[in-house]
Amino acid sequence: MVAGAQDFVWFHEYAHLLLGHLVVGSCPEVENEADLFASTIIAELSRWNGFFSVGMVVMLMILVLMETQKGTPVTRTHPIAGIRLLTALSPFEESERLVLRELVDAVQSALGPVLRQLGYGSFVILL
Ligand SMILES: [Zn+2]
Repeated sequence: MVAGAQDFVWFHEYAHLLLGHLVVGSCPEVENEADLFASTIIAELSRWNGFFSVGMVVMLMILVLMETQKGTPVTRTHPIAGIRLLTALSPFEESERLVLRELVDAVQSALGPVLRQLGYGSFVILL
């Protein structure tokens, strides 16, 4: 699962190099393009090993959780994490997206009450 998260980051950074993003700099459109590039590769790799997609989705859910906590600085260079998660799911086939949405729901159901009890903010991802 960790490999999927790491590979998503590698492919995202590789997209910046490959697509000439280093010349234009970071902005939400460029970051979205890099996310889409990376998730397209992850979607293909997941057809051999589903843990690639699980790692990517859990990592993006962690970003959503971090962004929803008070005191977290708002990024101006990247889309908000919920949008990044939606973008990352877009290259998957509908049946694969359904499974990944179930994963998101299961993680939210398991973590939400615990996080609320610990005083963290709400953790809701609507896909
Ligand atoms: Zn980037």
